[in-house]
Amino acid sequence: MLNYDEIKNLAKIKADDMYYISCYLNVDPVENVKGDYLIHIKNMLKKASENLAKDIRKQIMPDIRKIDSYIVANKRDFKKGLAIISSAASGFWWESHFSAGFRNEIVVDKLPYIKPLLNIIDTFRRYAVMIIDKESARLFAVHLGEIEEYREIYTENVPGRHKKGGWFSLAERSFERHIDYHVELHIKDVIKQLERLLESGDITRLVIGGTEEALSMAKSLFPKQISGKIIGTFSVTMSAPGNEVLFRVTPVIEAYERREKEDTIELLMTKTMKNENAVLGIDNVLSALQEGRVMKLLFVKDYKTHGFSCARCGFLTSQMAAECPFCKNPMQKVDYMIDLAAQKAIEQGAAFEVVHDNEQFEKAGAIGAFLRY
Ligand SMILES: [Zn+2]
Repeated sequence: MLNYDEIKNLAKIKADDMYYISCYLNVDPVENVKGDYLIHIKNMLKKASENLAKDIRKQIMPDIRKIDSYIVANKRDFKKGLAIISSAASGFWWESHFSAGFRNEIVVDKLPYIKPLLNIIDTFRRYAVMIIDKESARLFAVHLGEIEEYREIYTENVPGRHKKGGWFSLAERSFERHIDYHVELHIKDVIKQLERLLESGDITRLVIGGTEEALSMAKSLFPKQISGKIIGTFSVTMSAPGNEVLFRVTPVIEAYERREKEDTIELLMTKTMKNENAVLGIDNVLSALQEGRVMKLLFVKDYKTHGFSCARCGFLTSQMAAECPFCKNPMQKVDYMIDLAAQKAIEQGAAFEVVHDNEQFEKAGAIGAFLRY
């Protein structure tokens, strides 16, 4: 599955004279009945090659043929989105399948075009989901629009669950030592497995589901380092199939992310205003990147702007410049300025967030960054 390191490896590729073709394709079987995307993709590839200068087209033709036959041969494995980056001239091929679709896009450039990947990885973060009841619990990982069941936990011998309003209310009565013991045993089991999942999946956010009673119980017995990771709760039956769990948990995650993003942008605005290690606007972001100070980059999803780039040292500027102020190399006009900026940020190990519909942020420059110092 796509992760930050994989994107970082793509971002690290240095431009030489070889061209890369980056394809983001919508191969959703629901939207593409009878596989008519095959014809559509063939046409798109043809069109993309026709628009290229002769020498570039000559270099990229083997890639186009390779992508074409890949798509025909692998159509059965497709999910909803398909990303392919290829440069036969550099001996490079990368592909990835996604449960979320892309807007069809083909870019030929001297570097891989990775912005759609940034959007997808930021939109679909990794979450742990747990549903819990009296004696059992199920753990899931949610990522890139998919849910995967990780483990089912069943703690035997939880006594007293048929008496006096059930197991959860009993736990509040501290004199029932015997029952507390089993409750704690179950919760301890759950915590152990949960910690394992959070650690192995590098997950920092958790959503829990169950009855109201079960949820408040679990919350009160969890240690702080786990309860602090809970971003929301939902109600669900214990035997719900995975896709139903995903269906119920998705709105909880979406609401959390909306809130979180709004808070982040507000913080960015305030910090910029106070001049506290934050900047807004393309020029300020580019100079912070040049100095290696960017900790987290934020940009509006479809924001595009032109600029100039030095192919030798990677200097980027939005200002018209004939030669690079650092290495005196002639500057080249580039169309994918935000993509290059994001690529540079990731190469430096910075985090990123893709912003959707935030008028305030768009007016303030549509790009900004929290700085390391
Ligand atoms: Zn330079």
